[in-house]
Amino acid sequence: MSPVRRTAQRKPAARSGEPPFRKILIANRGEIALRVIQACKELGIQTVAVYSEADRNALHVRFADEDICIGPPASARSYLNIPQVIAAAEVTGAEAIHPGYGFLSENPHFVDVCHACGITFIGPNAEIIRMMGNKAQAKATMQAAGVPLMPGSDGVVETVEDALAWAERIGYPVIVKASAGGGGRGMRIVNSPEEMADQYNTARTEAKAAFTDDSVYMEKYLLEPRHIEVQILGDLFGNIIHLGERECSIQRRHQKLIEESPSPALTPELRRRIHETAVRAAKAVGYFNAGTIEFLLDARGDFFFMEMNTRVQVEHPVTEMVSGVDIVKEQIRIAAGRKLSYSQDDIVLRGHAVECRINAEDPWKFTPCPGRITALHFPGGPGIRMDTAMHQEATIPPYYDSMVAKLIAYGSDRTEALARMRRALDTLVVEGIRTTAPLHHRIIEHPDFVKGAFSTKWLEGFLADLE
Ligand code: ADP
Repeated sequence: MSPVRRTAQRKPAARSGEPPFRKILIANRGEIALRVIQACKELGIQTVAVYSEADRNALHVRFADEDICIGPPASARSYLNIPQVIAAAEVTGAEAIHPGYGFLSENPHFVDVCHACGITFIGPNAEIIRMMGNKAQAKATMQAAGVPLMPGSDGVVETVEDALAWAERIGYPVIVKASAGGGGRGMRIVNSPEEMADQYNTARTEAKAAFTDDSVYMEKYLLEPRHIEVQILGDLFGNIIHLGERECSIQRRHQKLIEESPSPALTPELRRRIHETAVRAAKAVGYFNAGTIEFLLDARGDFFFMEMNTRVQVEHPVTEMVSGVDIVKEQIRIAAGRKLSYSQDDIVLRGHAVECRINAEDPWKFTPCPGRITALHFPGGPGIRMDTAMHQEATIPPYYDSMVAKLIAYGSDRTEALARMRRALDTLVVEGIRTTAPLHHRIIEHPDFVKGAFSTKWLEGFLADLE
């Protein structure tokens, strides 16, 4: 690294009016890389795209000011390759790195390396990421802050015998979860003592394979909960605000398919309590930058902390639509040492927004469906937003996440948002690959969905009825 660049990176936060950074490298691909480029363009910041050999013709490469190939298609050798990403930042003189979601976004070691190289990581610090990345430890921290927790083990469960003893105290069914978990992996439900040994061992094996860490913890397994999460923004001066909640209960295999804001399940009083609890939780860890506190809500209206995500979420657009806040721009401003642009009183949540995650998969069998796009038409019109890196004749590579687009519909109320989503799905054309758009169409016109009467189990039943 040249001494000149070091000096540039250490200069104090620019005065407001000037761009927060001169140049940012985006350590990601796909729609989120484009999303960060959009924010940078609006802020007057130069952008550097990194890409794997499979993404040579990707839009994030085309739209960034500079681009650098960082390796072969496999993520481990490109988007997860820390020395390559850092070298790209150094060669281009990028002052900061936006990690997007996935890949290096919640890797505390990467944050340490950025810091050591004088590059600003756009997110919280390594200490917070480490604490929240270890879910067992995160729960202990939240408990100390008086945040209601999912009843469960005190930290990591080391043996099958301990697992049986905990399950006896918690009451069946229980769920064994990877401490380092994410993306719905490393989770096993146990209905009775007979199932424990198998499920416990499988959870550990899965956790080891997915996260190279086989520690697991346990929770009471709620049968029909709703997943409600709260968007948080915090600056380096200790100001923390929330931007309301997102309802993320439409899930398949613990992975979200449809999200919306606000949640149709909350009374104003419950909403206020969940928001307040989330802000308290974020304050307890001295949180800064964008983050999300995830809760499960049971049928009685009790809610429990599940985990905190320390990055921008896939589903952040629904919050942007109802709050009017550009979350990615705020992330960048916060990382540059600026104060939050909003106080809590400035935040007025208006209308309703829904997001469908469109995956390159068979809509009924969910088999991945990468390949070459032959025809494309994106819906538009009032209240429609499409976040995607798909383009005419793009090839969807088989190496990465299958999510290829997020279709977001906004309306003055839920009815209007859903009507707009329906007509947008009607005019979305993606040919050459199969996508899950037809499944979304069926879900959003289902009477249960229209009523807002669903839990995290609902989609499973819906799919079983289709067979
Ligand atoms: P990940 O980080 O892998 O996404 P989470 O802890 O966020 O894992 O859980 C993902 C989903 O798994 C939740 O949204 C919920 O549907 C389900 N889940 C997790 N813990 C429980 C639990 N204790 N009871 C019922 N469902 C759970």
